[in-house]
Amino acid sequence: MESAATRLETVQANIARMCKPARREVGDVTLIAVSKTHPAHAIEPLLEAGHRVFGENRVQEAQDKWPELRTRFPDAELHLIGQLQSNKAEEAVELFDVIHSLDRASLLKSLAKAMDKAGRRVPCFVQVNIGDEDQKGGCRIADLPAFIAKVRDADIPIAGLMCIPPADTEAAPFFAFLAKLADDNGVDGLSMGMSGDYETAVQLGATHVRVGTALFGARG
Ligand SMILES: *Cc1c(COP(=O)(O)O)cnc(C)c1O
Repeated sequence: MESAATRLETVQANIARMCKPARREVGDVTLIAVSKTHPAHAIEPLLEAGHRVFGENRVQEAQDKWPELRTRFPDAELHLIGQLQSNKAEEAVELFDVIHSLDRASLLKSLAKAMDKAGRRVPCFVQVNIGDEDQKGGCRIADLPAFIAKVRDADIPIAGLMCIPPADTEAAPFFAFLAKLADDNGVDGLSMGMSGDYETAVQLGATHVRVGTALFGARG
């Protein structure tokens, strides 16, 4: 089996390769290593290889794993990529450097309150329900301009837009649509692309790709 460090090199090389024809700078794409479900000892090799940006999807799991890792790698940057319950907002604001799942007014209120209390503003991506799927999280496309205005009013820094396209379909049109929505709404960042489609996402303007399986192998 390939080592995590080798996989990291491969993913980074793929990102660089896709930047070139898109006339983008490699430095404009942040690789978020999604370490959810993987124990600290599986994460360490990537930290030791110099990687610093990681993603987790559960507050509790991140609380269990990261404080200890952070004592040894204090400059590690932690992104929350999963759905967030309003009652976990305070813990999320304490632990994470960036939140990718701001998608509704109730959560916005809880996060703003938590940030006031903590005295720090955590940049948030606004998650968009890009495929207009009933069961999926994310702000509805029709509601996006009004919701972005609310986020700005609450003085929460907007890191960009985030999406998870519908499963089992070509992701490219959804990535292109997210880029257009960001443009229409004067937002810069684009969190899109996972192990199966991060190269496409980079071509279409992703500033943050969230890659788990391609770095850590399959989740148990
Ligand atoms: C798990 C997860 C990822 C990473 O998925 P892989 O296919 O393992 O790369 C990316 N984004 C979100 C929101 C996730 O939950």
